[in-house]
Amino acid sequence: MIYETLGVTPIINAAGTNTRLSGGMMAPEVTAAMAEAATACVDIVALQAAASRVIAEITGAEAGIVTSGASAALLLGAAACLARLDTAAMDALPDAGERRDFVMARSQRNMYDRALRVPGGRIVEVGIPDRFSGAGVRDASAAEIAAAIGPRTAGLFWVAQPWSEPSLPELSRVAREAGVPLLVDAAAQLPPSGNLRRFIAEGADLVCFSGGKAIGGPQSSGILAGRRDLVCSALLQMLDLDLPEPQFRLPPEFAGNAAPPRLPQHGIGRSCKAGKEEIVGLLVALRRFVAESDADRTARLCAVLERVRAAAGVGEIADGAVPLLLLRPRDARAAEAVLRSERIHVGQGRLREGLLVVNPLALAERDLERLGAALGRVMRDAPG
Ligand SMILES: *Cc1c(COP(=O)(O)O)cnc(C)c1O
Repeated sequence: MIYETLGVTPIINAAGTNTRLSGGMMAPEVTAAMAEAATACVDIVALQAAASRVIAEITGAEAGIVTSGASAALLLGAAACLARLDTAAMDALPDAGERRDFVMARSQRNMYDRALRVPGGRIVEVGIPDRFSGAGVRDASAAEIAAAIGPRTAGLFWVAQPWSEPSLPELSRVAREAGVPLLVDAAAQLPPSGNLRRFIAEGADLVCFSGGKAIGGPQSSGILAGRRDLVCSALLQMLDLDLPEPQFRLPPEFAGNAAPPRLPQHGIGRSCKAGKEEIVGLLVALRRFVAESDADRTARLCAVLERVRAAAGVGEIADGAVPLLLLRPRDARAAEAVLRSERIHVGQGRLREGLLVVNPLALAERDLERLGAALGRVMRDAPG
């Protein structure tokens, strides 16, 4: 295998599609499409226009582009909120001027929101998330967010999780009344596949998804979908624009009522580019993802976990959009370390509760027996 020629030993990834562990694996149909895409050249704007048509059909958004990941989509989405279709503003980023605040609930802060600061945004936190500290019941309210909006506000930011407050419909009402765009990080909110449409339907102006997580696309791919003028701004700030200006044509997929009066320089999002192979791979993976029903996907993933559980002789399958296998060894941290020393990576998110989590998304057929046997072993003789 190619990794062995490089002196790198493959791992068993039972932790899910983490970037740290190289994401998941792609279906043969996806890798075949990528290999074919690599054998011919195209106009990259025409390919992004084709991507926009597919993304619009599947998400219900006006337009969309493929980026180098959800983090890149966040960066580009923020850049679009900051500069809109103002070419001088695009050229000035990351110097965003006065209007550069992204207002968000303090409880939703996370390490990925760095992407909003890269193009020049500033994060304004609202609310005291008492319900997480255990000292109270409140989070941020829509009214508190509304009160924080002013002339410096470039956009609102919402991180999609089932427990996020205020709700997206409440926040989108605030955004509409204030006339500011609403950007949503939904990187890992798939499945259920209905979430591809849900956030747009609930009023988001821009939504980011990871292509390398459950969609099963290339690890370095992502989707930015939403309002045509904002997606257009994002595209212009990502493209290689090294051509004589009169030769540039914006495809109708991205041209709203207002195309920029002149072409910007290479944008703040130039490093977010997706190659033709990634764009094609993402589109094929996206079509496959929506072709499988959530019920079929859950049943398929449960069957994977069932085989691991049978080989381990222990464990409990927890239902969810992505079902998980949970194990409670005597000492979860010690057991996790033993597995890791054997190049087996399990989910670490619930070690505090004493649980090992097996996520089926990045498991290969060849992993199941060995994973199950190793889990059975640490459950029998983990130290502690
Ligand atoms: C995974 C993730 C990202 C980053 O996605 P990439 O496609 O790896 O860039 C951003 N935000 C959240 C909430 C995520 O879970």
